[in-house]
Amino acid sequence: MYRSHTCGELRLNNAGNQVTLAGWVQTVRKFGSITFMDLRDRYGITQLYFNEKMNPALDGNPVGREFVLQVTGSVLERTNKNPKLPTGDIEIEVADFKILNASATPPFTIEDDTDGGDELRMKYRYLDLRRPVLKRNLELRYRVNRSVRTYLDGLGFWDIETPYLIKSTPEGARDFVVPSRMNPGQFYALPQSPQTFKQLLMVSGYDKYYQVVKCFRDEDLRADRQPEFTQIDCEMSFVEQEDVLNTFEGLFKQVFRDIKGVDIAEAFPRMTWEDGMWLYGNDKPDIRFGMTINNLKTPLRKTAFAYGDYKDGLAFKVFDEAETILAIAVPGCAEYSRKQTDELTEWLKRPQIGMNGMVFVKCNADGTFKSSADKFFSEDTLKAMAAQCGATAGSLILILAGPEARTRKAMSELRLEMGNRLGLRRHDDYKPLWVIDFPLFDYDEEENRFVACHHPFTSPKPEHLHLMDDRSAYGSIKANAYDIVLNGTEIGGGSIRIHQKDIQEKMFAALGMSKEEAHEKFGFLLGAFEYGAPPHGGIAFGFDRLCSLLGGQESIRDFIAFPKNNAGRDVMIDAPSAIDDKQLNELKLKTL
Ligand code: ASP
Repeated sequence: MYRSHTCGELRLNNAGNQVTLAGWVQTVRKFGSITFMDLRDRYGITQLYFNEKMNPALDGNPVGREFVLQVTGSVLERTNKNPKLPTGDIEIEVADFKILNASATPPFTIEDDTDGGDELRMKYRYLDLRRPVLKRNLELRYRVNRSVRTYLDGLGFWDIETPYLIKSTPEGARDFVVPSRMNPGQFYALPQSPQTFKQLLMVSGYDKYYQVVKCFRDEDLRADRQPEFTQIDCEMSFVEQEDVLNTFEGLFKQVFRDIKGVDIAEAFPRMTWEDGMWLYGNDKPDIRFGMTINNLKTPLRKTAFAYGDYKDGLAFKVFDEAETILAIAVPGCAEYSRKQTDELTEWLKRPQIGMNGMVFVKCNADGTFKSSADKFFSEDTLKAMAAQCGATAGSLILILAGPEARTRKAMSELRLEMGNRLGLRRHDDYKPLWVIDFPLFDYDEEENRFVACHHPFTSPKPEHLHLMDDRSAYGSIKANAYDIVLNGTEIGGGSIRIHQKDIQEKMFAALGMSKEEAHEKFGFLLGAFEYGAPPHGGIAFGFDRLCSLLGGQESIRDFIAFPKNNAGRDVMIDAPSAIDDKQLNELKLKTL
């Protein structure tokens, strides 16, 4: 028997017990003729005490950090208790010990507050994973996974695996491809998602499917993306949008209850994509705080500004020439100093935001107004503006003017920034919502064609189906598609699918695919749709991101046992790497 207890379980009521523990040595503290050590395992840390009698044995068998040690001894009440440790009331008076394995000196300290940099910790990920902070993250991941499975199992969903070696298809991101030795010159692709397979399972009659599944996308990596990531992937038959939303709202409520002990009683709000874009400036609104965006422009006015003429017959070009004028009222900031408003202006001028400046209006506590564009605005105008923005006394109204897309994006960022500055975006304040009624198509300026806003299998709203025959109307077709958003982050999305062959063909054609091309790429799906495809729909959630949000942390990497770095590399195993000529020959491949 290697151990009678773990390093996290002994308490004061165990005092006097004879125990055996095994674990890793976190610290060694020698005080003259006695020594203390902290012994760590997955469950916690327990202090070891080597008394005068035991200490000489240590001199003959020196024990260093990260040695694997087995100790036997009795549980003692500590005189100097450590309230920060669950085991802090006791220590083990060691009677015997055995070094199970020695350790080289670790390249960084194995503690939450480590001295190791990112690259170093990635290289020695197996050591990094010993740190309690990562252990807690992986534990949370496991618990979320289990909660999801239990919920779906309870509703009769089946976990059915789908293949990893599939066919490369256009649309979406770039595929990772795998050469086939048995079929020289041909390649599999790794799935970007099991989308078509889960739809085929619906055709096969497996009406409730789910999988916690790896997906692969060969994209340029932002800090929070991974080339391989995990989705909770689900699909159901004989459902309408409402059925899907209700089923998965239930899933989230269960996960919040299990993981955070939070009961969300009320239904998740549902916001149209259009409202998200106008009121929050994006399709993943952070509704932990208000400060919604107001549109100050109306094309009907002579000056093109919602409140009519400017003061003294002046023209304010910044507004008149702008495609859009947007404003938010930031509560409690009317007393911002010149320095603070200048600093905000500089913040907006950074290339990431790209605005030329901003106009502000201070709604003073005494009911007066002060604006950076006072010259143009009468007191009445400022008052009307404040009323439209819902600004109360003490608010600072921030106004941006410019081209629509850029101004909206900048206002969205500014709103989030002000939310941060006012402490309105707390990690533990969970505010999920559904965003619905997405457009079916986006126009890709670079490729000069329509692309699927979600993916090509998403169905248009039935009342917009006829618009599929009119190219000029593509931009106004809405889809039966939905996203779930948590605290300003999209954590899942899905749609009711197309299940009729002719509509699916129309969709492929709308995306610029010839009939032949559509059949070559997706013939299997179109074929299946000829054999009684049921109405169906589903959703997929970003599992890594969901875990990081529930863990209150920014990076998904810290919730993945063995992640890649920003260059898509695993620096621990040193992948990707070259393969030898023999392998290349077998695959009939040459590298350039
Ligand atoms: N397969 C889709 C995705 O990965 C999700 C879905 O529509 O179910 O985004």
